[in-house]
Amino acid sequence: MTTTPCPGCGLILAERLAPPPPEHGASPACFALYGRALEHQSRRFAQPPAGRLLLDAYGAQHPMDGGRMARDNLAVHLIALHLALVRHVPAESMPSTLRRVLRGRRDFPELPRPVPLGVLTVASMFGPNGAPIDELEAQAEAARAWASAVWAAWSDSHGLVARWVRDSGVFNEDD
Ligand SMILES: [Zn+2]
Repeated sequence: MTTTPCPGCGLILAERLAPPPPEHGASPACFALYGRALEHQSRRFAQPPAGRLLLDAYGAQHPMDGGRMARDNLAVHLIALHLALVRHVPAESMPSTLRRVLRGRRDFPELPRPVPLGVLTVASMFGPNGAPIDELEAQAEAARAWASAVWAAWSDSHGLVARWVRDSGVFNEDD
């Protein structure tokens, strides 16, 4: 069996013969596993307590190379991680808060890419039996741990992301 490491998260999985995902710097096998995690979350939990954490953890862990769209996508994922993990914006108000912070802002700068991109991967959303974590609290906790690991890997950019959020004026300065 041929195995390949994911260029984003480093996860080593059995090679999957499929085109690489268009919007992520990920291996096809890693992207398929992510698809399973997302699919399970939306099928299992009407209101996933983790909100968009899976989306942002995966996006920030699998940035595309170059280009304005790639830079903007990454910036949005990092801003969302900052809002969830630093500002503790609850999942239900995340979409509106993120929209207000971004307010159509685009053209973010290129960020130095950390290596490695976090000590946890999408594999942590699955139990030892290979099935997706099915219990609500445990699922939320796993998502949070994974997202925190990815966020921690981007520590060199924390100050810049905090400034983008501060400059949006959505939060009071003395928060
Ligand atoms: Zn990956």
